Amino acid sequence: MQVFKEKELLKQSLSNNKLAGNTIGLVPTMGALHEGHLYLVKEALKSCDQVVVSIFVNPTQFDNPEDLEKYPRNLEKDINLLQNISEEIIVFTPNANELYGDLIISEHFDFDGLDIVMEGKHRTGHFDGVGTVVKLLFEAVEPNKAFFGEKDYQQLQIIRKLTEIENIPVEIVGCPILREESGLARSSRNERLNDLQREKAAFIFETLKETKTLFGTKSANYINDWVEQQFRNYPFLELEYFEISDAKTLKKLTEKREGEHYRAFIAAYAGDIRLIDNLALNN
Ligand code: AMP
Repeated sequence: MQVFKEKELLKQSLSNNKLAGNTIGLVPTMGALHEGHLYLVKEALKSCDQVVVSIFVNPTQFDNPEDLEKYPRNLEKDINLLQNISEEIIVFTPNANELYGDLIISEHFDFDGLDIVMEGKHRTGHFDGVGTVVKLLFEAVEPNKAFFGEKDYQQLQIIRKLTEIENIPVEIVGCPILREESGLARSSRNERLNDLQREKAAFIFETLKETKTLFGTKSANYINDWVEQQFRNYPFLELEYFEISDAKTLKKLTEKREGEHYRAFIAAYAGDIRLIDNLALNN
């Protein structure tokens, strides 16, 4: 399997594919790969001739230095997992200066309000960091398709917006959330949970499912209060936010409209580990 740390060498390796008109798929990740990531890779392999998986822990999207420092890293294991899927995958794992140049800073984007709610509200500068790194990865790989998980649903919508405002000719493919048996959304951060936290964190998805049931008959305000109450009575997790939003604009639901799609979003802490999840409320 080819592993590149340098943009130029990656570009050289991809040039034959491009000349041949092959479809190149990109799966951006921060490593510590799990089944959720591997699902995206398998989806990419189904519809692309050449798949590039980037592994890069992006410093500009972390507002908390401790979170960045503690983010799990295991390149060797990641490469093995990818190798088991296909020797043909290309891994791109640059260091920060290789990708950014000398200045490791975020560009500022106008995401039309998508970035000021939920994750954006609670993690200052996060989506400028995400937009910057994804734009740099798109420049390095020039993929025809790029695969992102609905696990980070707000990020997925922001990447769609990024390609629109920056005129980047890439198809963005959203993939469903892969879960542990308990229902807990798979995440690299789950590795930091102890056994009890991991078991108790399944409460997040349980609550989202109940939200979906309530959504049929109850108002958004009622459901908000109900969720907050559930978390108050649950000592293992601390709720950071719960929101029901329009699935496209991510605007908070005030009044349900016929034909619109809505999603429920939760961010909660298990100790100092931040977990997020979301669920479609109507189809
Ligand atoms: P990350 O390494 O956390 O930045 O994630 C890389 C990509 O994998 C993002 O597009 C995530 O949304 C996606 N991803 C992470 N966890 C899951 C999951 N449980 N199910 C589906 N996609 C996921």
